[in-house]
Amino acid sequence: MTTDPTTTRRPAFPGGTILGYPRIGRRRELKKAVESFWSGRSDAVDLEIAAGTLRRDTVRRLAALGLDPDDGSVPGSFSYYDQVLDVVALLGAVPARFADLIDPDDGSLEPEGYFTVARGRGEDAPLEMTKWFDTNYHYLVPEISESTPISFADHRIVREYAEAKEAGVTTRPVLVGPVTFLALSKAADDAGEGFHPLDRLDDVVAAYAELLRALAAVGAPWVQLDEPVLVTDTGDLDPERLRAAVATAYRALATDLAPAAPADSADHAQDDVDGDGETEAERPAILVATPFGGLQAPGRAAGGADDALALLAATDVEAIAIDLVRGAVPTGAGPGGTVPGLATKTLVAGVVDGHNVWRSDLAARLEVAESLRPLGAGAVTVGTSTSLLHVPHDVDDETFDDGPEAGRLALDPRLRDWLAFADQKVGEVTVLARAVAEGREAVAEALAASSAAAASRRAATGVVVPAVRDRLAGLSDGDFARGAHDERVAAQRARLGLPALPTTTIGSFPQTTDIRTARAAWAKGELDDAAYTTAMRAEVERVVRLQEDLGLDVLVHGEPERNDMVQYFAEQLDGFATTALGWVQSYGSRCVRPPILWGDVSRPEAMTVEWSQYAQSLTDKPVKGMLTGPVTILAWSFVRDDQPLGDTANQVALALRDEVADLEAAGIGVVQVDEPALRELLPLRRADQDDYLRWSVGSFRLATAGAAAATQVHTHLCYSEFGEVVGAIDGLDADVTSLEAARSRMEIVPELADAGYSRGVGPGVYDIHSPRVPSTAEVTELLRLAVKSIDPSLVWVNPDCGLKTRGYAEVEPALRHLVAAAREVRAAL
Ligand code: GLN
Ligand code: ZN
Repeated sequence: MTTDPTTTRRPAFPGGTILGYPRIGRRRELKKAVESFWSGRSDAVDLEIAAGTLRRDTVRRLAALGLDPDDGSVPGSFSYYDQVLDVVALLGAVPARFADLIDPDDGSLEPEGYFTVARGRGEDAPLEMTKWFDTNYHYLVPEISESTPISFADHRIVREYAEAKEAGVTTRPVLVGPVTFLALSKAADDAGEGFHPLDRLDDVVAAYAELLRALAAVGAPWVQLDEPVLVTDTGDLDPERLRAAVATAYRALATDLAPAAPADSADHAQDDVDGDGETEAERPAILVATPFGGLQAPGRAAGGADDALALLAATDVEAIAIDLVRGAVPTGAGPGGTVPGLATKTLVAGVVDGHNVWRSDLAARLEVAESLRPLGAGAVTVGTSTSLLHVPHDVDDETFDDGPEAGRLALDPRLRDWLAFADQKVGEVTVLARAVAEGREAVAEALAASSAAAASRRAATGVVVPAVRDRLAGLSDGDFARGAHDERVAAQRARLGLPALPTTTIGSFPQTTDIRTARAAWAKGELDDAAYTTAMRAEVERVVRLQEDLGLDVLVHGEPERNDMVQYFAEQLDGFATTALGWVQSYGSRCVRPPILWGDVSRPEAMTVEWSQYAQSLTDKPVKGMLTGPVTILAWSFVRDDQPLGDTANQVALALRDEVADLEAAGIGVVQVDEPALRELLPLRRADQDDYLRWSVGSFRLATAGAAAATQVHTHLCYSEFGEVVGAIDGLDADVTSLEAARSRMEIVPELADAGYSRGVGPGVYDIHSPRVPSTAEVTELLRLAVKSIDPSLVWVNPDCGLKTRGYAEVEPALRHLVAAAREVRAAL
């Protein structure tokens, strides 16, 4: 450890730290407690007891796994629902429609109020939900205006610090930093013209200052403020404004408040209460964490105006945590390549991947951590690149067995050695921190074991499959391109004979309790294959008959056999594993189990053909085959980290290409390849976006370009802001693209028209995220908007997204209105 002689502070977290830990519980205890509270089966006291138990178990476990229990290395990163909503609660900053939920005495939200803001009530819509940076975690978007109340309203963070202390662990409370909080907020409906939430920075910072004082008063040595907005340059915020906000916020929090005394003299700090003339601590030491990317834009000079590391180093915070998995090792513009200001700070080297499940090659990660030395930080220690929120709890919870008696969810035993979930990653951090502090000899055994595991993974059968590699190597440009679009249009018109404004759906129909029960029974082996197939076929037939009755033009089979649009394919493709308990929080109490893509991908046999073929056998109308695209399969899985994502995407694409061919051979004339995650993976730095769009669009084209001219290829994208990907939508070269558009009132249609888009487009006319049934008049109005701004011969009529989360009571009338509206507008063309 290089310690600058001028530094007075003992290095932070010498034993290593993590930026956050899963909070849903090893057995989803929090999900159960929260849902039981929502349903009224338990009360607020029961909930608090369950959550308190979980919090205490968590901090004790982190200490047992090797994090120092006394110096703030253990993060206090609990949340009942969402970390951004937690700041809304901290500040009492609820939109006007929820003002009555605030406790008039202390300005806080009681647990009911907190959940109501997250989930809505009656006509009061909840806060909008959107993806957290480029993860699959969703946060709630705060709504801020000039009149939003903002104060230090909720003391939960302070109480939880005291609770952990009582349990024997000194934690480091973790919360979203003030700049990121406001940068991610949107202007509330009652905000004036030109208002930006950052206009309230002073008020928010004043409330944070109060919180820091309260934490100092109970003796908290550290607090962590997460500022991931500093790793992006793609938001709509003026970069100059963002930098000014960082300088203002951290001057007020770090410079203007007296810091806690150095950790090694903490005992004296306690004595100051006697009034011996020394300054009382007004705040804990501050760690600013910047996960999800580098603080310096790729290819830009260090020390320039856009260098966010230089910006943070110039503040008086005590430590900075940087992401060295997604971000490159930074460079300094000071003497000898140092970063001015860093000499008094600790750099937490985020070399253990918090966002993926692979075991680290410790020797290689150690080298990265050590390469920070020339920057001249007061000290360097080791941490995770992001919070561990994004990975499951514990590899040891899984069953590993390749024997004949293994259940469907038992994992390939080799994976035990290759994976690291949250608990294993804590172990890695402690080993690496020790190597940084004491030299690698101190942990030689662990380094050797890790290198051996990495070597075994590299050499294992299935990781590199020569047949897959040869096929990829043999691809040429022609494999990524279909024939001329006008020829395809003619061939498809002749084959399909569709009316103008053709109607269709996005694929799934409501997943009823019967369907779920049958699928679960089959998975457990309680229902045999024949009985399961009979049940699912009956469902397909019902859905086909319903669509004929409704008068839809292009039918679907309804996807009753799919648990999840990615897992369904992962379970059938070679190169993937699926876990039994690998739950990760997606939002609120909702958890997902992402599949693990560990080896070269190939398709042992057709995956969807039987279902589509059966549906087609029941009707004369065209049935659309349904596949999930390569980018979405990658986005919603844990993906191997040993080759470029584009190569992995192309392997998945080839498997899908074969599936398209099999669907065609089975007589299917329309195939939809869904890419709802295309925008989610869009890099947070502009400089990285072109490369991403090149490989992602390329993999979609590889999956679909084998289709004959007469086969109509559809795709579906579902998010509402398309601005940045309009060019990519065109690049996909699908014959028809359906998009979410109802809430934005068809905003995307003129954007596409302006960009010269000339293929089919189905802007959603039915918002399926709400139980509301749109009237024929409403749908007609949206359709009229669409045909006004783009050539009507290109327009399709469909809902915003799949219908699986809705009930038939809403879906049937809504689709009836959709068909009626299409007929009305068609007649007037
Ligand atoms: N075909 C899928 C469905 O209808 C698409 C889902 C999605 O876009 N998220 O359910
Ligand atoms: Zn969708």
